[in-house]
Amino acid sequence: MNDEKKIIKNCLFCNMIKGKVPSKKIAESTLAYAFHDINPQAPIHALIIPKIHISNAIELSSLNIDYFGGMVLLANEIIKKMDMDKKGFRWIVNTGEDGGQTVNHIHLHLLAGRRLIWPPG
Ligand code: 5GP
Ligand code: ZN
Repeated sequence: MNDEKKIIKNCLFCNMIKGKVPSKKIAESTLAYAFHDINPQAPIHALIIPKIHISNAIELSSLNIDYFGGMVLLANEIIKKMDMDKKGFRWIVNTGEDGGQTVNHIHLHLLAGRRLIWPPG
């Protein structure tokens, strides 16, 4: 684990972690923070982010992978609390331009509450 708490000044999601930009919190742990997406694509659409700045999936490494573990554990905690674990849900990590990533602080989309189609667009 990289102990350096790397937070970027002009990053939207880093500023949410710091409380400088408002967000509708769902849950948090020592490693991750979860909040409601501003433009929900399903009845439940949470964004789960690491509490340090990691730009995207390619930046994950043995030094910071515990943060990603923290993100998925927080996602499971949320989905169980919302009683959606039996119905099903989807995790998405958009990465880079072709992947549709628009905020360059890695985030796990957690979608649930409706039948999701496959393949995604
Ligand atoms: P991406 O397109 O990078 O995979 O996902 C970025 C997500 O962040 C989008 O679903 C978008 O709706 C959400 N988002 C962008 N700006 C804000 C904001 O200011 N607040 C919240 N809660 N979500 C945001
Ligand atoms: Zn950031």
